[in-house]
Amino acid sequence: MTDNNLTCKGKTYVLDTSAILSGKFNLSEGNFLISRNVINEIKLGKVSRLLSMSISSLRVVTPSSKMVQAVKAAAKETGDLQELSDTDIGLIAIALETKSTLVTDDFAMENVANFLGIEFAGADLKKIGYKITWGYRCTGCGQRFSEYSDVCPVCGHKLKRFAKKYKAI
Ligand SMILES: [Zn+2]
Repeated sequence: MTDNNLTCKGKTYVLDTSAILSGKFNLSEGNFLISRNVINEIKLGKVSRLLSMSISSLRVVTPSSKMVQAVKAAAKETGDLQELSDTDIGLIAIALETKSTLVTDDFAMENVANFLGIEFAGADLKKIGYKITWGYRCTGCGQRFSEYSDVCPVCGHKLKRFAKKYKAI
């Protein structure tokens, strides 16, 4: 465990992909929640192994559609909806439902969490960890893009975010 106050006992934290890759959390101790989307976003073998090893403290949770709707409504209100992926919205919904602390360095996520009265904390990516370059993959034709757009310019299906590159800082 690192000596920051994010790791005090008894609290439950919802981790986004950046928070997991920050290396700041000992995932084998404590109460951590993630979603299936987060696992899908993490493609590095090392991190996948880590995730499968620490099942006891890391729970994969599916957000309820009611909470997802509440988060979307809030994000629309704050003007952050365009900035949020389904993964982001799902994680905020999990934090809302379980009254957990959301750990993220994503400003849009923090903003919506704040609006909903969810506790949140940054994972301090600048000190330890990885810089992530996101890519977007079409759910239809599978083409990859480096820029997000609402729909695939080739086939019109939705794009999904994935971590394209990790760079240790
Ligand atoms: Zn496509």
